[in-house]
Amino acid sequence: MDTTQSISGLKGIGEKTEKLFNRLEIYTIEDLLHYYPRSYETYSQVTKIKDIKIDAMNAVEGTICFPIEQMVKGKFKILKIRIKDDTGYLYLLWFNQLYIKNNLKIGETKVFRGKAEYKYGQMQITTPEIFDQETYNKKTKTLQPIYALTKGIMQKNLSKIIRQGLIKTHNQLKDCLPNAIRNQYGFAEYNYAITQIHYPKDMEALKEAKRRLVFDEFFIFQLSLLRLKKVQDRQATQFDLKDHSIIKDIIKNLPFQLTQAQKSVLEEIKNDLMGETVMNRLLQGDVGSGKTIIAALMLALVAKNNYQGSIMAPTEVLAKQHFETMKALLEPHHINVGLLVGSMTAKEKKNMYQAIKDHTIDIVIGTHAIIQDKVVFNQLALVITDEQHRFGVKQRESLSQKGTKPHMLVMSATPIPRTLALMLYGDLDISIIDELPPNRQVIKTYAVDTSYRKRVYDFIKKQIKDGRQAYVICPMVEESDQLEVESVLEYTKKLKKEFDQSINIEYLHGKMKPKEKNIIMENFANNTIQVLVSTTVVEVGVNVPNATIIAIENADRFGLAQLHQLRGRVGRGQYQSYCILLTQSKSNKTKERLDVLSNTNDGFIISEYDLKVRGQGDLFGIKQHGDMEFKIANVFEDIELLKIANKLAKDIMKNDPQLTNEEHYYINERLKNYIHKYYSG
Ligand code: ADP
Ligand code: MG
Repeated sequence: MDTTQSISGLKGIGEKTEKLFNRLEIYTIEDLLHYYPRSYETYSQVTKIKDIKIDAMNAVEGTICFPIEQMVKGKFKILKIRIKDDTGYLYLLWFNQLYIKNNLKIGETKVFRGKAEYKYGQMQITTPEIFDQETYNKKTKTLQPIYALTKGIMQKNLSKIIRQGLIKTHNQLKDCLPNAIRNQYGFAEYNYAITQIHYPKDMEALKEAKRRLVFDEFFIFQLSLLRLKKVQDRQATQFDLKDHSIIKDIIKNLPFQLTQAQKSVLEEIKNDLMGETVMNRLLQGDVGSGKTIIAALMLALVAKNNYQGSIMAPTEVLAKQHFETMKALLEPHHINVGLLVGSMTAKEKKNMYQAIKDHTIDIVIGTHAIIQDKVVFNQLALVITDEQHRFGVKQRESLSQKGTKPHMLVMSATPIPRTLALMLYGDLDISIIDELPPNRQVIKTYAVDTSYRKRVYDFIKKQIKDGRQAYVICPMVEESDQLEVESVLEYTKKLKKEFDQSINIEYLHGKMKPKEKNIIMENFANNTIQVLVSTTVVEVGVNVPNATIIAIENADRFGLAQLHQLRGRVGRGQYQSYCILLTQSKSNKTKERLDVLSNTNDGFIISEYDLKVRGQGDLFGIKQHGDMEFKIANVFEDIELLKIANKLAKDIMKNDPQLTNEEHYYINERLKNYIHKYYSG
């Protein structure tokens, strides 16, 4: 069967459900099969009624007693039954699901599974799942998938649809890997891997399935980079950048000297821009290494040659900050800078569109709003993205369709070792700023256990008394966005009780609207707010030099690279700054890991250590950072597979660049789908 078919052909997928699935980025059968479980659970053995645990999941084997009752309460039609075993009775309820009674017969024995509650003076389970004994028995021996959900789709429904997809495609999926490769590296067969990742028969099978699918993900990704690179390498540029005097003019007036590293990447990028082909380059540099000035100089270069340039930031806060910086640097040189973000009024936007179109604005700074259809550039020669996930070819394409093939510069502060960068950004040329400006103060970093929390708060109070400000990164919640929001609100409440009322404490989380975030960040920037409680959304790259302390709860749960990023929020001004890592764990290993941060400020050393140790916390390292979005692979944990994928992809593309060999047919098919989906779709 053709797995690129829409899911709409499946049973139980109406128009409305399809939309919900689309929200999970499931469009086709293939997407469905690749919607891997977030985790797994095992079904516990059945319990006796007298041993039921309240507020927990229980499975009870019981006989249905007389009578089966139906009643109406308000808008609910309730179905209520009673079951018994040799230790007692239990009530089961269903709301607005009267049809369930068709499956229930008095005197029959079944297994009922659900969350037990004590309500109205009796023990009950609401909407339990029903199994016959044999089926349930089988379930206790297997791992059950748990999928990430979206509002409107229930675990049960999602599992059911995925099961349907699995049954429909059973043993019909084409394994794209040639047997030779599979044998050489011991990779599981594809159909097996897909089935086992959803319904593993045991841990061993799950491991094997995961290994295969992680490899596939890396492999196709590596192939796509190679193919892309090939396409890009040949593209001639249509821009003619001759006059580069502006670079010297701006540098002359800077209050500092460029570092050696800045100078050399400046040369690299300048040569690209003034060269014959379209630039596709990654500029990597640790927090505070001074990437912004490089961006500014390049934008100035294109503007002075009568082209337009643009810089895109992932958030409005960051975009506004860049706008201020660029204005200060460029306007004295008669370069006009404009801001374009989502929260502007329709009229403001319209004016900006006009100004961009008639080229009264040279440099456009903004969020993704920039690449919308309404924006018509006039000779756009350079697009820079800052602190951004890979600027996909999808977007490059949408810019190309605006009539230009602009030079691309992707700036990233995720310090990863060059070897890894080469594998992950294989389609881009790489420049690295591997040096911080001189006289950077060292941020004093301490890892302490939570018994020090009070003292940490006292220290924050002292800093505030001295006129400074603080960030507090609150405990991390993984389960859902909703819980995360609650956790921030609760923590803020707690903190407000600890602190004097004159100290203004506010919070920031990912579910807030850009406008709300802007207001909070502005008030933090102008010191109306002294303590900012936040999830890790504290915008990467944000610059509030008066903030001198950042306290991070649950620090052991983060990857070191991410902690390093967070730490980079302080130490941006003239004052001594501090980073306090709070952990509940008293283990030596945790301490050793966090001590790496106390001992060095070098992001590259830190991420290399992360790479070596590959602890649990690293799950939240780069991956979460948004740079690379893999479904199942983790660049840290699965580095060995990434290396294999990189090598094999290179081999194959070298010997059969168009993938026309018969044995590469299905690789090519998957690659085409992948490129279509992620790059041009
Ligand atoms: P990042 O690379 O994290 O984006 P920024 O570009 O924001 O870092 O630079 C951080 C700070 O360092 C800014 O205030 C910037 O003006 C300053 N800076 C940049 N280059 C130098 C330099 N060579 N010497 C001293 N300060 C510099
Ligand atoms: Mg920056």
